[in-house]
Amino acid sequence: MSTTSHEDKTVLVEDFDLNMICNFFRVLDRQGPGSEEATLKALGFIEHLPSRPKIADIGCGAGGQTVTLARHTKGDIVAVDFLPGMIEELDKRIRQHRFGKRVTGLIGSMDDLPFHEGELDLMWAEGSIYHMGFENGLKAWRRFLKPGGYVAVTEMTWLTTERPAEIERYLNENCPEMDTTAGKLKVLEEAGYSPVATFVLPESCWIDTYYRPVVKLYDAFLEAENHSDAATLFVERIKEEVAMYERYRSYFGYVFYIGRRMF
Ligand code: SAH
Repeated sequence: MSTTSHEDKTVLVEDFDLNMICNFFRVLDRQGPGSEEATLKALGFIEHLPSRPKIADIGCGAGGQTVTLARHTKGDIVAVDFLPGMIEELDKRIRQHRFGKRVTGLIGSMDDLPFHEGELDLMWAEGSIYHMGFENGLKAWRRFLKPGGYVAVTEMTWLTTERPAEIERYLNENCPEMDTTAGKLKVLEEAGYSPVATFVLPESCWIDTYYRPVVKLYDAFLEAENHSDAATLFVERIKEEVAMYERYRSYFGYVFYIGRRMF
């Protein structure tokens, strides 16, 4: 990935330098829409875990949901992110909460995971599976689950079948697999899972735990990046994203999808 200039108007947040993205987001509790309550609600649908489940948290970021999973299961958790800065933050939390060896952070890519076939009881991915694609990720990860194992992911989803042209264009450009919940469930089923539950994340998951802390970061971030063109453009892109959410939040949202590998 490379930095970009003001001339390039179609640049997406993801096209920016990864270190810069990491520096911006690593200080937050969550790097995407979500909350402890939503993580716990999703966990509540997972009824058949063994007493000491083996769990992977993919695209864990700084580990907000990892901590929740560790506190509310007796599982052994491997939390994976490809940004070393995120794993550093996660490691701090593992130490703070004294999880010991039960929770480990791993620098690695979600499309090349180091698990064995049939090793895991639960694969968790909040706000991250889109990096390799909802369909690709679900298909690729299934083999790591035991029969009876679960997948739980959040994914950007249309909440209505009709929507204004501006948001349709913006999200189709930024999130190439945009679909309704029904469309996403079909993908989940065709990837070899039985649907267990879906629910829409409430607006508080976007505003209270994500955008409100995000907008407070702009000034310090721009200062730290010496007001570089790339940093300025990055902040503009995030402001645009926040504005789109404020304007069109009835039309799209994050949905939690929980599925089970049955055989
Ligand atoms: N789950 C966290 C973080 C979501 S942000 C939360 O909900 O708060 C998405 C995370 O996925 C980022 O930390 C990013 O570094 C990570 N990521 C992006 N592409 C990845 C890849 N190919 N492999 C592993 N992690 C990746």
